[in-house]
Amino acid sequence: METVREIGALRDAVAAFRADGQLVALVPTMGALHAGHVALVEAARRPGTKVVASIFVNPRQFGPNEDLARYPRREQADLRMLEAAGCDLVWLPGVETMYPDGFASTVSVQGVSETFDGASRPGHFDGVATVVTKLFNQVRPDTAYFGEKDFQQLAVIRRMVTDLDMGIEITGVPTQREDDGLAMSSRNIYLDEEERGKATALPRALGVAARSIGRGDDAAAALEDARATLIAAGFTIDYVALADAETLSDDPAPDRPRRLLAAARMGATRLIDNIAIEDS
Ligand code: AMP
Repeated sequence: METVREIGALRDAVAAFRADGQLVALVPTMGALHAGHVALVEAARRPGTKVVASIFVNPRQFGPNEDLARYPRREQADLRMLEAAGCDLVWLPGVETMYPDGFASTVSVQGVSETFDGASRPGHFDGVATVVTKLFNQVRPDTAYFGEKDFQQLAVIRRMVTDLDMGIEITGVPTQREDDGLAMSSRNIYLDEEERGKATALPRALGVAARSIGRGDDAAAALEDARATLIAAGFTIDYVALADAETLSDDPAPDRPRRLLAAARMGATRLIDNIAIEDS
């Protein structure tokens, strides 16, 4: 596995893959890798395809009062994990490469990025769309892999790729979970032992509500029950909502694919999770 930190070296390495007749798959990450990221690399690994992972903690997707400074950084462990997962090339740009002096461009996706995390974290999805556009232009992959864990992010990227004719195939990978159901996240390490125990209420409450809505029960009542469960477990709720799985509209038609989405704070840690509604 090769690692590159300069754009010229990245372009040479990708050109060598292309000269060898290989397709190129990109897995963007912010590092502090776990089995969720490994699942993306494994999904990207296919015969005739080289897998490029990027590690960049993107300052533009953090709000002023968010955790940029303390976001976990552990490059050596990440590289070992990527190598073991079968990654071929790791792109490790510095902030000065991504945002050199004078940088003045923003990619902004309307609609799908305005609800939920877009409303709670102003500017977050502009930061995501801008950095993913840069990564796409740097690596020029054929395909790119994103986790369903960040469901709205995946929807924003799909919209952006379609709208801007980027010609990159986007694949969503199911959320990888701990044995007790908590979605894996680089931020789970912020939870102390007691908080970590209580946090399992999030996937549990979403699962109960999703099954209830899938059976045809009243959605508003199911969402209210989920909120009450989360509050009883010690969460402060940001949102618990039913959304159209494509447009992220918070008023989805029942005959459309729907997703239950939640964000809630356990202590100082903001957790997100989501689950599909499956009609039963
Ligand atoms: P991050 O490093 O948190 O920016 O995440 C990088 C990529 O990994 C994103 O596409 C995430 O959606 C994905 N990801 C993070 N956690 C998980 C998980 N538990 N399961 C699947 N994908 C994940």
